[in-house]
Amino acid sequence: ATPTAIMVGTGKGAENGILFKNGEALETAHKIDTVIFDKTGTITEGKPAVTNIVSNDADVLNDTVLQIASSLEQYSEHPLGKAIVNNARERGLDFLAVKDFEAITGFGVTAKADYGDESVFFVGNSKLMEDRGIKDNYGFIPLHSKYSEEGKTPIYVAIDNEIIGIIAVADVVVMITGDNKKTAASIAKQVGINSVLSEVLPQDKANEVKKLQSEGRKIAMVGDGINDAPALAQADIGIAIGSGTDIAMESADIVLMRSDLMDVPAAINLSKKTIRNIK
Ligand code: ADP
Ligand code: MG
Repeated sequence: ATPTAIMVGTGKGAENGILFKNGEALETAHKIDTVIFDKTGTITEGKPAVTNIVSNDADVLNDTVLQIASSLEQYSEHPLGKAIVNNARERGLDFLAVKDFEAITGFGVTAKADYGDESVFFVGNSKLMEDRGIKDNYGFIPLHSKYSEEGKTPIYVAIDNEIIGIIAVADVVVMITGDNKKTAASIAKQVGINSVLSEVLPQDKANEVKKLQSEGRKIAMVGDGINDAPALAQADIGIAIGSGTDIAMESADIVLMRSDLMDVPAAINLSKKTIRNIK
């Protein structure tokens, strides 16, 4: 490609909020035959909100479940954590003092706190509970299923080895129907994605990209960078959405400043036009 053609193409992109980080990105984008979308923060707005809080009301109040969860999540960068903290602030709850906070990528968070005695707290998904041998003595699993079916993200709250509550968080889905009663599969269906890779751990996202590449595909990965920076880097073209994280901007070849997913095909078309003009 001539430097002039690249300059024209890059300029046109910038006018429309599509930043090609280099000429190579503009040249490669026309070869893309597969686009992978990260869900949280990409297809969905990444500004989820708490929709339900349930405790094992025998011992613990709903506010206590939220207080415990938010005391840990105040140290988390994750959109789910932020939703929980925002809700606790709205309700005017105080945070407990915690120590040894740890974010377990793709699972949740843990920390210790003085709660009568010193206890270990866990906030996260089923895999985290199974992994740590935490018991569902109060029967929260049916609620977990119910919230999942509603397209919400259920988050368990546990003290030591027992689940004591559940918090459901739902994303604002950026789509035409705006109906929230759907699972990941139906979200994909609504945006016209015909294949869903679900329950993929953050570190495995890059491997999924690699697998598809080994089948000879040219991959564009679209993400917000929370846990998907390696996949953005692995892809032939990494596309970061503008409302994402700094690390996404760094890992990506293209940044969509308007955070509009329709700019993904626009970027690929711009590349095709540029290449056609060159040939
Ligand atoms: P995505 O691939 O959709 O961007 P992540 O890989 O970031 O999602 O997280 C996967 C899952 O791990 C979440 O749906 C949630 O169940 C759990 N999780 C991750 N971080 C947290 C957190 N800070 N608090 C509670 N749960 C979390
Ligand atoms: Mg994400």
